[in-house]
Amino acid sequence: MPAHSNLYPTKDLQARDAAHHIHPFTDTGALSREGSRIITHAEGVWLTDSDGNRYLDGMAGLWCSQVGHGRKEIVEAVHAQMSELDYYNTFFKTTHPPAIELAEKLAELTPPQFNRVFFVGSGSEANDTVFRMVRTYWDLMGEGERKVIIGRWNGYHGSTLAGTSLGGMKAMHSQGDLPVPGVHHIAQPYWFGEGGDMSPDEFGLWAARELERAIEEIGPEKVGAFIAEPVQGAGGVIIPPDTYWPEISRIVKKYNILLVADEVICGFGRLGTWFGSEYYGIEPDLMPIAKGLSSGYLPIGGVMVSDRVANAFIERGGEFFHGYTYSGHPACCAAAIANLEIMQREKLVERVASDIGPYLQAKWKALAEHPLVGEARMVGLVGALELVPAKGDRRKAFAPVGEVGTLCRDISFNNGLVMRAVRDSMIISPPLVLSHDEADILVERTQKTLDDTYQALKRDGRL
Ligand code: PMP
Repeated sequence: MPAHSNLYPTKDLQARDAAHHIHPFTDTGALSREGSRIITHAEGVWLTDSDGNRYLDGMAGLWCSQVGHGRKEIVEAVHAQMSELDYYNTFFKTTHPPAIELAEKLAELTPPQFNRVFFVGSGSEANDTVFRMVRTYWDLMGEGERKVIIGRWNGYHGSTLAGTSLGGMKAMHSQGDLPVPGVHHIAQPYWFGEGGDMSPDEFGLWAARELERAIEEIGPEKVGAFIAEPVQGAGGVIIPPDTYWPEISRIVKKYNILLVADEVICGFGRLGTWFGSEYYGIEPDLMPIAKGLSSGYLPIGGVMVSDRVANAFIERGGEFFHGYTYSGHPACCAAAIANLEIMQREKLVERVASDIGPYLQAKWKALAEHPLVGEARMVGLVGALELVPAKGDRRKAFAPVGEVGTLCRDISFNNGLVMRAVRDSMIISPPLVLSHDEADILVERTQKTLDDTYQALKRDGRL
């Protein structure tokens, strides 16, 4: 029996899970009725469930498994670190070798304005850190009235109070009376969904200028920062038009506000550059990172802090009353170091830029020919398909929104491919180690999933 064979009947596991586990982003009632999907093993880009079914992990876990699953080198690095020093904190002027080494490595890999990192355990904690750092920075600069942080509708920055508030997910805001005061949201650069009759370039400029309009309305002396993902991930892989980021850069410079590029998904090679900011030529002041930093082997994130911000803290700051027990956890740092070494040695970022990225993009974009697909987009190794009821009319969506996406996602699972549905868009973000053969399988299974979904919709009279 292979080591990963499941010893328990799936039904038993599901019953125990439903009895005791409240899952994130899950309808607990529905889960109790239907049972959870139980993943027992993973290797490379492949997942195995409790019944022995295999799936291609088209989402790299949750956008995080850059080097693929089951890399013994990372397991051994963590084992060695835990045997040497299982845990010690980084509070009160203390540290340990793995935190030192990882901080140095991140300073080397990130754009030149970044020489320091604040370690956290997750992307959400990174954005809570950003929230407090932005306001503290402006206090230190003697402009403490600059409290407002501007984010975007349908942006995602995590599930904690600041993360949810900075994000623009209305369903999340409705639970817990959020956002907290001092956060403002502007339109997203989602041309397919919201571009109306404008060309992508016109719309990109319009969406960027929403930032300028908001700053003028709020009062430039009250705005501290703008936060955005280079490419929105959880919002549906929204790739901004080419005109968007240059105009945003102009505006943040004009008003001297801090630019926060949330690199939790785009960082660590996803777009074929180490960071999404480099892909778009933007120069952020703060950069939340997580996920691909350790390829998800252990939980770790950080905020990259530019010299502009760090110097204010160093020269004027005193103590920053902020930190997490697991900030710079030694085992997590060891996992991240081993992960980054693999990425460098195997040239995974270069591979996304010039090999597997273009290879998969060409095949993915060809799916736009399918009768159900209104747009097929991809940059680096992250892409989306917009499912539409009437080909050629991008203003017409399925009603109610989301049902067809969910149907398609379930069909995809049954076809052995994990895709995610956001509204009626199908999302992929596979591990960066995806081979050409695996890319072919991914596209074949997507094609079959689209065909099966199309047939199912026809049968039900929904097309
Ligand atoms: N920012 C972005 C851009 C993300 O995509 C996510 C997670 N999907 C987060 C922040 C939050 O990260 P975490 O789930 O690790 O808290």
